[in-house]
Amino acid sequence: MTATVAPDPGGFDARVHTLVVGGGATGMVAALAAREAGHDVVVCERDSVPRGSTALSAGLIPAAGTAQQREAGIDDDPPTFAADIQAKAHGRNDPALVDLMARTAAPVVDWLTEAHDLPLTLVDDFDYPGHSRRRMHGLPDRAGRSLIDALRDRAEGAGVDILCGAAVDTLFVRDRIVTGLGLARGERIGCDRVILACNGFGGNRARVARHMPDIADAVWFGHDGNDGAALDWAEALGAATRHLGAYQGHGNVAHPHGILITWATLTEGGIQLNRDGRRFHDESRGYSEAARAVLAQPGGVAVTLFDARIAAVARQFGDFRDAEAAGAVRIAADADGIEVAMDLPPGSVAAALSALPRGRLTPPFHAVRVTGALFHTQGGVSVDETARVLHADRSPFPNLYAAGGAACGVSGDGDDGYLSGNGLLSAVTLGHVAGRGS
Ligand SMILES: Cc1cc2nc3c(=O)[nH]c(=O)nc-3n(C[C@H](O)[C@H](O)[C@H](O)COP(=O)(O)OP(=O)(O)OC[C@H]3O[C@@H](n4cnc5c(N)ncnc54)[C@H](O)[C@@H]3O)c2cc1C
Repeated sequence: MTATVAPDPGGFDARVHTLVVGGGATGMVAALAAREAGHDVVVCERDSVPRGSTALSAGLIPAAGTAQQREAGIDDDPPTFAADIQAKAHGRNDPALVDLMARTAAPVVDWLTEAHDLPLTLVDDFDYPGHSRRRMHGLPDRAGRSLIDALRDRAEGAGVDILCGAAVDTLFVRDRIVTGLGLARGERIGCDRVILACNGFGGNRARVARHMPDIADAVWFGHDGNDGAALDWAEALGAATRHLGAYQGHGNVAHPHGILITWATLTEGGIQLNRDGRRFHDESRGYSEAARAVLAQPGGVAVTLFDARIAAVARQFGDFRDAEAAGAVRIAADADGIEVAMDLPPGSVAAALSALPRGRLTPPFHAVRVTGALFHTQGGVSVDETARVLHADRSPFPNLYAAGGAACGVSGDGDDGYLSGNGLLSAVTLGHVAGRGS
């Protein structure tokens, strides 16, 4: 679907203060914040049930200085978090946007926990690459589907109207003011403001090929409905866009099962071997850049090798349990057994293990065949510190906002700037800022 801009039609079928395009985490947080600010809110979601990429994620939100961290004795603050984000992105992010997200995340996590009764807990048993503190927060089952369902429940409870099966295809605009929007099914709704919460363009193969050709052939692991509507509108309006080549990949998706294997399998000490049984990259750098590293190997696949202790850590993730149930995780008592199970050259696993520090991986060994995938795009519409969309001349559109995956995030300009959690960080912080308005 190509999203378009049209002149104000002079009349609407209905009118509301805040219209939110997209019912993922961004849209729901924005809607909740807008309700708290006293506005009537309608969320327009193209699908029959609002889920988006949020439901596909592990639902983990990074935040620095939360009550959960204090309880766990973790000393963290927004400047430390901001420094981690910038270090991962090689300093290529807008510093004001990084500071905004780093300082807003903890209040938003506290707000979701206390005001909206989301039982977010801290992931306190393993480290994510690039985070100098443990600061990932998620629902107990670590499932994004639970997160989006809980957010929808709270939004509905707060009086947000959620229209499903309501793809938005038109923005009506007069003199840079958005006066309303049009649904593909026909209705036109007038409004005081619009929040674009329709994520990026990973579901649009033509745009992926144009903006990030090096990952164009990878498995797309995000939500198909995220086909770049925000970019279509931005281009039609002359809005500024940034870092369109930035994305989060993942180099640990079970193949051919298509199930995410948590990167904890690597941060906890696992390794990746290619089809020849050789290690081929530094797994500690991060899972996003690992996608291309895996795809560059023979057959575009690798074997992730770990042990029972690591499997126990990984098992807190529903996806990992699903992978086990699907038979993607193979177990063998020794290196020879793993070589046979994963069709690796004889002696290769033993050689790789002997190069590791003693005791890093111990039998029985676990292994999964994996490939690299594109998870979500990180570039997008440029916004200011109020989440208003910026025109190419750098002045803000007065009543048009973008947040979450629709907006340019803080992951630099390529595949190696993504710090774990940057996706939901942008969703909940910019979503909250946009929803609250100013
Ligand atoms: C497998 C996977 C794992 C991930 N794990 C994590 C993680 O643990 N932590 C993290 O921070 N991030 C993670 N991410 C990224 C994270 O999921 C996204 O950054 C985040 O969900 C974006 O939220 P959103 O609300 O902007 O988009 P979405 O959740 O995708 O919601 C956008 C919604 O807009 C709707 N929509 C699109 N176009 C239109 C239109 N024209 N009209 C109406 N509706 C429209 C879509 O149907 C969709 O429901 C992961 C992503 C994937 C794919």
